[in-house]
Amino acid sequence: MQNYDELWTNVLNVIQSKVPDISFNSWFAETKLKSIEGITMNIEADSVFTSDYLNQYYYDFIHEIVFAITGENYNLNFTTKKNVEESPEINNNLNIVDKQYKKINSNLNEKYTFENFVIGDSNRFAQTAALAVAEQPGKIYNPLFIYGKSGLGKTHLMHALGNYIESHTNKTVLYVTSEEFISDFIGINRKDIKDENDNNNDIIDHFKEKYRNIDILMIDDIQFLSGAAKSQQEFFHTFTTLYDSNKQIIISSDKSPDDLKYLEDRLLTRFRWGLTVNIDPPDFELRCKILKAKMTGHEVARLVKNDVIEYIASNCENDVRHLEGAITRLYAYAAMMGPKEINLEFAVEALKDYLGKSIYITNDIQRIQKAVADHYKITVEDLKSKKRTANINYPRQIAIYLCRMTTEETIVKIGLEFGNRDHSTVLHAYEKISTELKTNMELKETLEEIKNKIVN
Ligand code: ADP
Ligand code: MG
Repeated sequence: MQNYDELWTNVLNVIQSKVPDISFNSWFAETKLKSIEGITMNIEADSVFTSDYLNQYYYDFIHEIVFAITGENYNLNFTTKKNVEESPEINNNLNIVDKQYKKINSNLNEKYTFENFVIGDSNRFAQTAALAVAEQPGKIYNPLFIYGKSGLGKTHLMHALGNYIESHTNKTVLYVTSEEFISDFIGINRKDIKDENDNNNDIIDHFKEKYRNIDILMIDDIQFLSGAAKSQQEFFHTFTTLYDSNKQIIISSDKSPDDLKYLEDRLLTRFRWGLTVNIDPPDFELRCKILKAKMTGHEVARLVKNDVIEYIASNCENDVRHLEGAITRLYAYAAMMGPKEINLEFAVEALKDYLGKSIYITNDIQRIQKAVADHYKITVEDLKSKKRTANINYPRQIAIYLCRMTTEETIVKIGLEFGNRDHSTVLHAYEKISTELKTNMELKETLEEIKNKIVN
């Protein structure tokens, strides 16, 4: 009997040669062959979502490859780390059709793809759902409803989804913003046009053709339909027609269906029929990852020092568009100044107006934060976060204490650098640790250790 890992590596190699990279990385890369019991292979995936998806849409595909390699007719049982039940049912195969021609103007922007969408905890679920819909349009999650604040990648994901479908199938995609939908709709009702055309039917036909003879309809920023009652009604009909013929609908919004107060209830009900996913603001780690991804490729990218990335990531908190703006600025400034390297000092100068009141990473407070975070194996972000669990709160109090004791910084400034905490929080932390130090020798030693780690 062949070793499981080796056998599975062989299977994965074949899979990798047959599916797009993005599919491989999302569905297969993390799978493992856990065991073979009789004629059943137990394959472990990293989430229930993935194992269900593999079971439903890739069963035959994997089965065939396993057969080709082993000569055995194994049943595949997909599990996740925590559960080991569920029996697999055989389902339809995935077929990737060659792209032949484009029929309508889809309004897609080719610049936005799954490949250049950087994934982290805050957007992983949305990305996976979008990819699942791209692979199986109209078959699962209809409609797909993506929501999140501005600048977090909703439009990017929609275009990525549409581009994927266009390059792997012959299906027709239409991407519109809700403003465009409204203006098309107003077009068929405009009196001046009606007067010019004895018969208004041409325009209505055009509208219906545009919105109903398609396989995938994406409407971006649906919240703007709020003020347009007639357009909402028309959208409702469009939605129903498409939905009833198993066409895929994808909607984005800055709010969840539950918070979209000014849309008709019957529309909101339909939105809930499918899958709703949200995108949260990126955490520090993801911000760094996005910055790195967006910086590469540019001719001055190799000049950028790592602490510049951390500096920008700590100062652009909520929005990917803001991160992109920082890079554009930085590069424009570099083009002007022709520096030998883009170091922290250069970045601070380049971005001084753009980032507003920013934190200069080499100040004492930040050095202390770094040392404390390293000691407790948490991140500087944790120290600044709203998290109040003991494993973070305690190190935070220690860091605040050290800042009070060993720097000249004011209480206000210390509070600011710990996630904008107020005066009394800083004082409380300081007093708490001071009191504890009177009796706790161990803590005293810990503080000495940390102090030794503070780099100068
Ligand atoms: P939204 O539609 O949610 O307002 P966008 O999709 O327009 O946001 O994203 C704003 C900008 O940020 C775009 O240029 C987009 O490419 C970029 N962006 C957002 N999220 C990511 C990500 N995860 N990876 C790479 N780029 C991203
Ligand atoms: Mg958008």
